[in-house]
Amino acid sequence: MKFEDFLSPAQEQEIADAIESAETGTTGEIRIHIERKCPDDPLHRAISLFDELKMYETKHKNGVLIYISIDDHKLAIYGDEGIHSIVGDEFWNDDIAIMVSEFKKGRYSDGIKEVVKRVGEKLAEHFPYEGGANPDELENTISFGDGK
Ligand code: CA
Repeated sequence: MKFEDFLSPAQEQEIADAIESAETGTTGEIRIHIERKCPDDPLHRAISLFDELKMYETKHKNGVLIYISIDDHKLAIYGDEGIHSIVGDEFWNDDIAIMVSEFKKGRYSDGIKEVVKRVGEKLAEHFPYEGGANPDELENTISFGDGK
């Protein structure tokens, strides 16, 4: 699948906007990485990307990476220890189930935006923004692999 068939440029922008909006109420950070192939276990790949993208560089250890392989139909979500120790696997599994269900209907952008909103709400619950500086510690634009 071409990246453009998965998300149009307008949808990419909508997702970056959804991340920006989700992050306004929290010190947490959300990123998305999309690539074509994932020969490995997607969670292992997500953990490796989390490191590569320096997503551990948040003050409260509350970065969350949503990982999608569009050709191999694999998904994973990896949250840093601050948020993962609170929500556990169950929360991420529900997010993955939402994306799988929406992706099956071809609703890629909607599925991603729904999960971004849901993760943002959970981050806001446990890591609320309480005034003062709230730097955007990690970029909101989608990170693409496989040469895009
Ligand atoms: Ca951000």
